[in-house]
Amino acid sequence: MLRQQGVLAIGAVLGLFIILHLGFPPEAHGPRTTGTTMLGGIAFLLMTSSVILSTRLAILEDLFGGLDRMYQVHRVAGTFTALFALVHFFGVPKELPEGVDPVANALVPSSPLGMLGLIFLIIGLFVALNRKIRYSRWRPTHKIMAVVYVLIIGHFMTAPGIFFERFSASGVMLILAAVVGVLSLGYSLFGMNHRTAIPFTIEAVNALERATEVVLKPVGDMIDFKPGQFAFVEVQGKGWSEPHPFTISSAPGEDRLRFTMKVLGDWTRKVREELQPGRDVMVRGPYGRFDAAKVAGKKQIWVAGGIGLTPFLSKLRAMQPGDDRQIHLVYAAREEQDAIFLDELKSRAAELGNITLIPLFSEDGDFARVDNMKENLPDPLSSYEYFMCGPKPMIDGLMTDLKKEGVSRRAIHTEAFEFR
Ligand SMILES: Cc1cc2nc3c(=O)[nH]c(=O)nc-3n(C[C@H](O)[C@H](O)[C@H](O)COP(=O)(O)OP(=O)(O)OC[C@H]3O[C@@H](n4cnc5c(N)ncnc54)[C@H](O)[C@@H]3O)c2cc1C
Repeated sequence: MLRQQGVLAIGAVLGLFIILHLGFPPEAHGPRTTGTTMLGGIAFLLMTSSVILSTRLAILEDLFGGLDRMYQVHRVAGTFTALFALVHFFGVPKELPEGVDPVANALVPSSPLGMLGLIFLIIGLFVALNRKIRYSRWRPTHKIMAVVYVLIIGHFMTAPGIFFERFSASGVMLILAAVVGVLSLGYSLFGMNHRTAIPFTIEAVNALERATEVVLKPVGDMIDFKPGQFAFVEVQGKGWSEPHPFTISSAPGEDRLRFTMKVLGDWTRKVREELQPGRDVMVRGPYGRFDAAKVAGKKQIWVAGGIGLTPFLSKLRAMQPGDDRQIHLVYAAREEQDAIFLDELKSRAAELGNITLIPLFSEDGDFARVDNMKENLPDPLSSYEYFMCGPKPMIDGLMTDLKKEGVSRRAIHTEAFEFR
């Protein structure tokens, strides 16, 4: 679930900027310049938020509720950046503020930098939001946003009569934001991947029904993670392209790391068909805040749709007998053959005693639906805490219906298996 602290922090920064900008405007500014430069400043601060969110820092995951939520906010902030920047561009007076020397101004590149930044921003946003572009192509082109960010800093730092002649309070705030943004950009482009990389070698590649289990042996230290967290897996060697995110399906404490990968596209097919034991792999992580055990109530419903079982698999593998939670695990798959690890789930449920396993097969006409839950659960729906992971339409549908049944949004935790 998206946590409010992060969004409130962005709101507070924008609020402070607006107060400073309207309260202490540069002397030469008329109302129109003040208003439109304020929109430009907001656009820059939103873009800075996007840049900071791309650092994947753990403290930000705590504030926003996990990396998948951070990327959602990153996307929304990016979209609003473009909207505010467009209004700023069309609205800002084209004549120079009073007292600015036109000859000196012609020497600074503020307008061309702003124009170039805006053009690249619109192109970059179009690419970023276009789901038809394959991830492997999308990823390198998204780096154009780093150039946009630097162009925009150049634009406002050389804007006529704002900073170097009369420092305004809101202008100083933008400069501070630019410093933090440039450091974040440098870190996410050059530092982040080295800092978080943990080396492994492939020990086994096990073919399951429409999925592959990849077993990794640590070269040095094992990754320290909580059940339900995910990591980026980067197979080393030519032709393996970019890192891919997967939930860790083994339990913390095991001496091997396991991922269960549904065969979906080129990369996951290549894993199944070509990946061999002995190959080196870099694992980056862990990420995600789907392990809400410390905040969750004792009565829980876990809903897994297909490969969305993986976070629950890790949680079940980690669970000890005597756990005082009462858990109903709804496992929805197309047919019994598709329900990977079903036998293991059954025996874990029998061993642990606090798990009620409810397999549902759509081929038999059984779906994960709220009316079914209402009929079959011993207590009212609003008395449970919900954890759901699976296809987006299933999660969205369940969420809407649960809310209609009076279940609070705070009691529903979801994990999205996509960032875009
Ligand atoms: C937090 C998280 C946890 C996940 N856990 C699992 C899991 O436990 N098991 C599992 O089978 N799948 C999981 N996935 C999904 C998995 O990452 C994709 O299925 C896989 O990357 C598809 O790659 P592909 O090239 O085979 O397929 P494609 O057809 O190229 O892609 C299918 C989908 O995956 C997205 N995707 C592709 N490559 C990447 C990438 N490098 N980084 C991010 N997204 C990408 C695409 O945008 C598209 O929506 C998880 C995804 C996320 C975000």
